Amino acid sequence: MECTVRSKPRSGVTVLAGPTAVGKGTVSTFIRDHYPQVWLSVSATTRPARPGEVEGVHYFFKTAEDFDSLVEQGQLLEWAVVHGVNRYGTLRSTVDAAVAAGKSVLLEIDLQGARQVKAAMPEADFVFLSPPSWDELVRRLVGRGTETSEEQQRRLETAKLELAAHPEFDYTIVNDDVSRAADALVTLMGLTPSHAG
Ligand code: 5GP
Repeated sequence: MECTVRSKPRSGVTVLAGPTAVGKGTVSTFIRDHYPQVWLSVSATTRPARPGEVEGVHYFFKTAEDFDSLVEQGQLLEWAVVHGVNRYGTLRSTVDAAVAAGKSVLLEIDLQGARQVKAAMPEADFVFLSPPSWDELVRRLVGRGTETSEEQQRRLETAKLELAAHPEFDYTIVNDDVSRAADALVTLMGLTPSHAG
């Protein structure tokens, strides 16, 4: 972690963002599996479920119409179109209830969403997950082999812009190792890392 001195009192809400392919999803999955004391927000999305994804655990899967209703009714704390295709958003009521219950809330969202949360909830902690290097980010994006080469190029262009947003964040964690990054994140949230090593 580059920055270890707290700049503001704890609000109970931590936002984790960072460039495409940096491993935000892997770190949040690790936290879901190893840190039950963290309340990981479950987002609404119009993206279809991938094999193994469970409604209410990984996402709340919505039709475009249902997502429109959530937006119109003001039920989303933030939402964004990610990678130019699907919409993703954070359900305001579930986050408010978790904060009211004194839980340690974690939102794993994209940069556009993080900026919206910063406007609505400036007291939250904003954590930027950074790749060890640009070359490593390229290696991770290309290596996972889930995008076409055109899509990879498009995402790398987006990643450059996203990396430039780094100074907007309170803290940076370098994702050189998933368990180490997750431990750094929960420590920053004021919790004791239960996963040693
Ligand atoms: P995936 O489709 O791979 O699960 O997620 C794609 C991207 O959507 C990731 O960058 C993730 O951070 C982002 N994302 C997931 N949930 C939300 C959300 O509620 N709001 C925003 N703005 N982005 C989200």
